[in-house]
Amino acid sequence: MTWDLPLWQSLLPVGRDPATGGYRRYSFTEADSACREWFFNTAAERKLRAECDANGNLWAWLDVGSGAGAVVTGSHLDSVPDGGAFDGPLGVVSAFAALDLLSERGWRPVRPVGVVAFMEEEGARFGLACLGSKLLTGVIEPDVARGLTDSDGVSFAEAMAGAGLDPGGLGVDGRLADRVAAFIELHVEQGSALDGIGANVGVGESIWPHGRWLIEFGGRADHAGTTRLADRRDPMLPYAATILGAREAAGEFGALATMSKVAAVPGGANGICSAVRAWLDARAADEDTLNALVARVLEGARGSADQHGVTVTSRCESFTPVVEFDRDLRDRVVAALAQRGVTAPVLATGAGHDAGVLARLVPTAMLFVRNRTGVSHSPAEHAEPEDCAAGVDALAAVLEHLACR
Ligand SMILES: [Zn+2]
Repeated sequence: MTWDLPLWQSLLPVGRDPATGGYRRYSFTEADSACREWFFNTAAERKLRAECDANGNLWAWLDVGSGAGAVVTGSHLDSVPDGGAFDGPLGVVSAFAALDLLSERGWRPVRPVGVVAFMEEEGARFGLACLGSKLLTGVIEPDVARGLTDSDGVSFAEAMAGAGLDPGGLGVDGRLADRVAAFIELHVEQGSALDGIGANVGVGESIWPHGRWLIEFGGRADHAGTTRLADRRDPMLPYAATILGAREAAGEFGALATMSKVAAVPGGANGICSAVRAWLDARAADEDTLNALVARVLEGARGSADQHGVTVTSRCESFTPVVEFDRDLRDRVVAALAQRGVTAPVLATGAGHDAGVLARLVPTAMLFVRNRTGVSHSPAEHAEPEDCAAGVDALAAVLEHLACR
C-alpha cells in the first residue's frame, strides 16, 4: 500500500497551531470534539458500528459472531502541548487503513474486530496519563478521575459534561477481558532504535516503569528590589537545584528524569515567588532503580530547600509498573510478520501507552513504526510515508493472522 491517505490528510489540520505547527488536542476541547467527529465519520464510511463508552473512549466495530473474543487495534487522538502529528493518530489511522486493505483483499474474519481511540492518553489536560484506559480497566477510581482538575481549575467531570458526555457512568468494564481477546497498538517509535538497526517496523517487548511526581516548594513572596539576598526565602532556588540534581541522578542510575512543567506562584518578574510547583517525570528499566532515582531527587530537593528556608512536599501523581507484553501474542505477531517476509526486531520502550494499561487484563502487543530522527512530543516528530505504509501492511498481516482463525 502507499501512504497518500485522504484519511490521514483529513485529520492533520485538527488542533494544529499554525504558529508552531504543533498540536493541542486536549480532552473535551473543540479540537477533541473535531477528532471525535472524525472518528465517527470514518467509522460510518466503513459501515463500522461506532460507540463512545462510559469513559469517553471511542470504539468502531466490525461485528462478527457473538461479540466475544474480539481483536482490537488503535491508539489515541489527544496530544501533549505542541505535540506532533504521529503520536497516537498514526495508530488510529493505521487501524482503519489496515481494515480497508483487508476488506479490499476480501478477508473473512471469524471474530469481531475493533478500532479504539482512548481518551486523555497523554494526560495533558488533567495530569494523569492513560486516563481512559485506566478507568476502563479499574486502575483508577471514578471519583478520583471526576475530581481531577485542569490548569484553569475545571474538573474532569465538568469538562466531560461540557462536551455532552455523562461523567456519572465512569468506571471499570467488567466484560472487557471477555469481549477483547487481543489488543494491538501501533505507535510511532519515540526514539531511533529502529533506524539504528535498519528496520522500519518493530515489536514491543516491555515498557519501563515510570511515573510523575509533583514537588511543591513553599517560600515567601517578597519584593525583588528591596529584599536583601540573605532575607529571602525564594522557592525558585531549590527548584533550580532539583532540576540539576535530577539530571545528575538519572545519569548515574542509567535512567531518565525530566522536569519540564513548572508553575511559579504568583509569577511576577519583579517579585520573589511564594511557591513553585514542579513536576518530575522519571523512568527506569526496573522499579528498584526507579525508586532509588526518585528518592535521590527528593532527598536533594529537601536538602536544598532547607538551605534556603523553603518548605518542600511531594506527591506521586501517577505510577505505572513495568509492563511485559504477552509473550504468546508477541510470538504470534512476530510469526505473522515473518510469513509476510518482515523481520521485526523486538524492543523495550521508555514511553507509556494504553497498551501497557490494557496488558493487565488483555493479551496485548505493540508495533512500532520507525522514526528516523527519534524526535517525539514535538512538532518535528516525523515518520516517512513508506515507513507508515509498512506499518499498515504489518498491522494488516497481524490482524488477519489473529482474526481469521
Ligand atoms: Zn502515544
